[in-house]
Amino acid sequence: MFKDIFVHVCILVSFIFSGSLIFRNNPSIMNFRKKIIMGILTGLLGVLLMEFSIGIQKGTFIDLRHIAIVTAAFLGGTTASLTAAIIIGVVRLLYSEINNMIMAITMITILVGLLVGEIKRLKIPPFYQWLFMIILSTFLYSIVLYYRIRHLEHFALFLQEFWALSLIGGLFTFYLVHFLKLHNFLYYNYKLQATYDYRTGLKNARQFDLHLTEAFSNPNIKQDTIGLLFIDIDYFKQINDRYGHPAGDLILQEVAGLLKSSVRKQDKVYRNGGEEFSVLLLNTNLEEAIQIAERVRISVEKSTYILPDQTQLKVTISIGVVTNSRIEESPMDLVHQADEALYEAKRTGRNKVCWALTCQQSR
Ligand code: GH3
Ligand code: MG
Ligand code: MG
Repeated sequence: MFKDIFVHVCILVSFIFSGSLIFRNNPSIMNFRKKIIMGILTGLLGVLLMEFSIGIQKGTFIDLRHIAIVTAAFLGGTTASLTAAIIIGVVRLLYSEINNMIMAITMITILVGLLVGEIKRLKIPPFYQWLFMIILSTFLYSIVLYYRIRHLEHFALFLQEFWALSLIGGLFTFYLVHFLKLHNFLYYNYKLQATYDYRTGLKNARQFDLHLTEAFSNPNIKQDTIGLLFIDIDYFKQINDRYGHPAGDLILQEVAGLLKSSVRKQDKVYRNGGEEFSVLLLNTNLEEAIQIAERVRISVEKSTYILPDQTQLKVTISIGVVTNSRIEESPMDLVHQADEALYEAKRTGRNKVCWALTCQQSR
């Protein structure tokens, strides 16, 4: 019996752990597709638990398939728990001689799938939801198994072992699922924070360094077609000083949105820090890069920014453009040249696009 329990626990742990890896990305969004996948996986878990059942007294076997259904309900609601229950029920029907008892067990399995899904909707703490689901499902399986065993003395023994295993297994699984859920949530959020700029939603400076270096070592990108725009908002400090920091933040967000919508789909926009942004343009020559920069500059210049107190603001940006022309150039060379071009745009009056020492006049 202990060997059977050990195998049961191993199946539960390995299945739930592997499943948690699949749901690692964006764990807080549980759409219909994810719920169905969750139902299928937990359904397969239930089938495996059924297959490796635990032998107790007098040739009687029990299993913890209901914990698989409860896990589905806990993570994906009724859609997932019903999917899991249907899979378990259908497999049971396919692999057994059909009689009244098998039909009853299948019906109970589907009923469990429905009811535990409903319990998930209750506005009570997660632990109590789980406990409620485990108690209800254990109770329903106990009723049907009474009719299977019939012998009252055997049934009393069976009940003790079934309930003990169900509660201990249920609690153990709750802590495992709870831990992995929290772990996935933290993993995803740390990943987001390490990749994106919180204020604007753009990729951050770390991503910029990474992508630029990758572009230089990517054999699919021709070496003379890596373009870079360095963008800086003009007189941004004055906006902060005159209208306050929150107004400055709002302008940053608005400009970030405009940058994203004015570049091409394949171009990547970054916030490199403060009021400085960059755009990485791959497979783009200098002429195209200048055109894109000019489009971006005009879209920022033409927009009117409305502050919460209805004040209307106009903002301009300066842009330094560069593409790598020599094969021996490094990412750092490109950044340096883009910086110099941006400085030239600032030095010669702002609101303009410059490349090397040449500038496109804004007016
Ligand atoms: P220039 O035209 O030469 O670019 O001048 P500038 O005023 O835009 O540039 P400067 O470097 O003097 O000022 C940038 C300001 O940006 C200073 C800093 O307080 C502000 N800043 C940096 N990060 C943030 C932020 O996240 N939010 C807000 N509101 N301000 C920020
Ligand atoms: Mg500035
Ligand atoms: Mg600046």
